Amino acid sequence: MNAAQQELLRALPSVDELLASDAAREVLARFSREQTVELVRAAIGEVRAGVLAGSVSEVNEATVNAALERAAGALETPSLRRVVNATGVVLHTNLGRSPLAETAACAAAEVARGYSTLEYNTETLSRGSRNGHCEHLICALTGAEAAVAVNNNAAAVMLVLAEFARGRAAVVSRGELVEIGGSFRIPDIMDASQARMVEVGTTNKTHYADYERALAPDVTMLLKVHPSNYRTVGFTEAVGVGALRALADKETERRAACGGDPVLVYEDLGSGSLVALDGFGEFGEPTVRESLAAGAHLVSFSGDKLLGGPQAGIIVGARSLIERLKKNPLMRAVRLDKMTLAALEATLRLYLNPARTCAEIPALRMLSESAETLRERAETLAASLKDALPKSVRVEVRQETSLPGGGALPLCELETFAVSVAFPEGGAQACERFLVQRDIPVICRCKNDALLFDVRTLLAGDAEEAVAALSAYCASASVEE
Ligand SMILES: *Cc1c(COP(=O)(O)O)cnc(C)c1O
Repeated sequence: MNAAQQELLRALPSVDELLASDAAREVLARFSREQTVELVRAAIGEVRAGVLAGSVSEVNEATVNAALERAAGALETPSLRRVVNATGVVLHTNLGRSPLAETAACAAAEVARGYSTLEYNTETLSRGSRNGHCEHLICALTGAEAAVAVNNNAAAVMLVLAEFARGRAAVVSRGELVEIGGSFRIPDIMDASQARMVEVGTTNKTHYADYERALAPDVTMLLKVHPSNYRTVGFTEAVGVGALRALADKETERRAACGGDPVLVYEDLGSGSLVALDGFGEFGEPTVRESLAAGAHLVSFSGDKLLGGPQAGIIVGARSLIERLKKNPLMRAVRLDKMTLAALEATLRLYLNPARTCAEIPALRMLSESAETLRERAETLAASLKDALPKSVRVEVRQETSLPGGGALPLCELETFAVSVAFPEGGAQACERFLVQRDIPVICRCKNDALLFDVRTLLAGDAEEAVAALSAYCASASVEE
C-alpha cells in the first residue's frame, strides 16, 4: 500500500459516521435498521477494496454515497425477471424454456392470489385429490388409462425407477445413456434411485438379442430413453418399444410359472409431444400416444418442452402402475404446487381444440410460424429500427436459421428471418453487454461483429423493447448520426 492509498483510506467514514448521514437516512426508509447497517458496512468495504485494488482514486462523500446506493439498489432489483428472447431458440433452457399461454398464466395467477379447489372435491364437499385436476385431460390427450404429474421429468424418471426397479435392475441401451443439460444423466439417476443399470449393445447399434441376453432374474424393467438432444446417424440400430414389449411379455409369462417379477417397458420420452408437429418431417418427435400404442407400460415426458406448459414431469400408463406411483413416499417430495397445476391444466385444455393449440401455446406457435410471416415481422422491426437509430447504424433483414432448443428436434434448423444491426465503429459486443444489463435484458446473437435479432421468439411488446434498448445504447455510446 502506498502513501496515496493510505491517504484515501483515512478519508473513509466509519460505520457510525456513514449511518448518521443523510444518504443512510434515505436508505433506512427502505430497509430495516439491521439491513441498513449491513449495507453501510458493505459500501465502505467496497470502496476500501477499490482503493486497495487501485481502481478507486478518490474517496469523498459522493463516492461513498454512490457505493451505498449501489448496494441498496442491488438488493431491491429483482433477479428473476422477464427478458426479451431474440435468440430464435424457442425452448431456451437458460431463458425459462417454454413461455406460458395467456390462459395458463392467468390460471396460475388466479389460484396464487386466493384459495382454490386444490384438494377439495365440490361434489362430495370433502377432501379431493390434487392429481385429479389434470389426470382426465392427460388421459384424453394420450389415450392413457391413468396419469400423474410431478415436479419435472427428472423427478418422473427417478420416481418410476425407485418404484419399479429399486434394488432390482433395469436394462438400457448404450446408445441411450444420455446427458441432458449437464446435470441429468441416466447412469447417475439410476444410481440415485438405487436401480442396478444393465447396459446392453454399443453406442451405435443395439439389437433385440442384446436385451434378451440381459434378462437376469433381478431385471424388472426395460428402459428406453429418447435421445433428446442428439442423434446417432449412419450405421445404427435401436430396438423399438413394440419389440421390447413383446420381449417383456414373453419374459413375464415365463417368470409367472416360477413366481418371478414381471418385466415392464418404460420409455422416457424427454420432450414428448402431445401432437404430431406438422412440417418437421423426419425431424419430428414421437408422440406420447404413439409410444403407449406401441406397447410402453409407462411413458414420461416434460411439461415445459414441446408441450409448451409449465415445468412439470408427466407419467402416463397402466392404471395399476400409476396407482403404485401415487402411493410411493417420494411422491410427496415431488408433487406439483397449485400454480403449476393450474397452468398445466389450462395448457392441456388448449390441446382439446386443435384450432387453439398452435394459435395459443407460444412454443408451438413459434415453432410452426411460416417463413413468410417471419420475413414480414423482420421487415417491420427493421423499419422501426431504421427510424429510431442513427443513420450510420446498418440495419438489414437476413435469412437465418433458428433452433427449437430444449433438447428437442436437435437436427432441425428452422428457416427464419432476423434483423442484423451493425455499428460504424464495430463494437457489437459492447452493445450486447449493454442490452443484457438493462432492466428488461434483451438477449440476441452476436455474429461477425453484428447483432442478430431473430423475430421468431419475440413476444408481444418485445420488438418495441428491443428498439428502445438499441436507441438507448446509441445515445449512451454516442454513435455518430
Ligand atoms: C429433458 C429430459 C429430461 C429431464 O426433463 P426435465 O423436465 O428437464 O426434468 C429427462 N429425460 C430426457 C430424455 C429429456 O429429454
